[in-house]
Amino acid sequence: MISFSYKALPWNILFGAGSLQRLPEELNKLGFTRALVLATPEQVTQGQDLVNLLGARAAGLFDQAVMHVPAETVALAAKEVARLNADCSVSIGGGSTTGLGKALALKLDLPNIAIPTSYAGSEMTNIWGITENGRKVTGRDDRVVPTLTLYDPELTMTMPPQFAGPSGLNAMAQAAVNIASGDINPIVTVMAVEAVRALSNSLPKVISDPGNIDARTEALYGASLAGGSLGMGTTGLHHRLCHTFGGTFNTPHAETHTILLPHCVAYNAAATEEATRRLADAMGVENAAIGIFNLAKAVGAPTALRDIGVQEADLDKAAKIATETPVNSPEPVTMERVRNLLQNAYEGIEPR
Ligand code: NAD
Repeated sequence: MISFSYKALPWNILFGAGSLQRLPEELNKLGFTRALVLATPEQVTQGQDLVNLLGARAAGLFDQAVMHVPAETVALAAKEVARLNADCSVSIGGGSTTGLGKALALKLDLPNIAIPTSYAGSEMTNIWGITENGRKVTGRDDRVVPTLTLYDPELTMTMPPQFAGPSGLNAMAQAAVNIASGDINPIVTVMAVEAVRALSNSLPKVISDPGNIDARTEALYGASLAGGSLGMGTTGLHHRLCHTFGGTFNTPHAETHTILLPHCVAYNAAATEEATRRLADAMGVENAAIGIFNLAKAVGAPTALRDIGVQEADLDKAAKIATETPVNSPEPVTMERVRNLLQNAYEGIEPR
């Protein structure tokens, strides 16, 4: 029997190579005249190019976006908003920069426009996160969904392969948990299946042929759908474990997702047999967990927690923290079984 609830998010999306050039006209349509451009120090050139493109519509550039959206950074950016009398933010970058735009939307009700350059997918969710006193607080609020998201695959061409691989697997995780999990929403699943198909088809080509705009386009398209499935869908054991490692051991975001995903899919496989088959079919493989593991290897992404700075001695603590509160999971979650999963992920063995 089919039974579900569904509430759409207020997306407004422009997708296509070269679409960045339409931003000035889109700002006009939205009635914004003083945009504060947000970027990381690493992408300051792209930020400056955007300021130049916007001309008189740009109020300024804030180039201090960093990972995990520290509250101090939000405060500094908020000061710039006030000083420059900005009427919107335009974030150009990965999930960290999008996250700063979302934080300003949350704190100041400042409309945000997202121009994603990685596969993080944050622009498609209503999830915000701000780190204060070493603790990342997250929540859901539709006010942080960008007023406009402009996807231009040409902006992803500069993403180095060693980042593009894990970033793509991070997207894959958002979709995979919305296919093979307990509380499936059929509308979200349609989106997630298409995301997995597009990502598994394109990511190996992005890595083997970085200049291939068609592959980059398909990967960004897959990532946007994957982000959408996270935005309207569910999370479970996989995201719990990633949050635990990122929050407690400061492991890199996309790589942590890449390593843990195959093991979490294997963990739930017996309890979600039909759904896990659908995930495997979307990838064109026999076994979903092993297929994801092999994809991670094919794109040169790390597959072992020990390769991203996790110590074996940390695994007990991680298993304990991750299972302290109930986890949304079709397969019952116990500390012992999670500890076993983490051992496999630590060693980087094939998921089972
Ligand atoms: P990131 O934004 O930190 O980017 C990593 C580095 O790559 C940065 O220096 C960035 O400037 C650079 N970069 C990004 N795109 C580039 C490009 N095309 N060319 C050259 N350099 C580029 O990393 P990320 O993986 O994109 O995002 C991770 C963050 O996003 C995490 O903090 C995570 O929690 C958050 N996130 C949030 C959500 C959500 O729904 N709220 C979803 C996914 C990720």
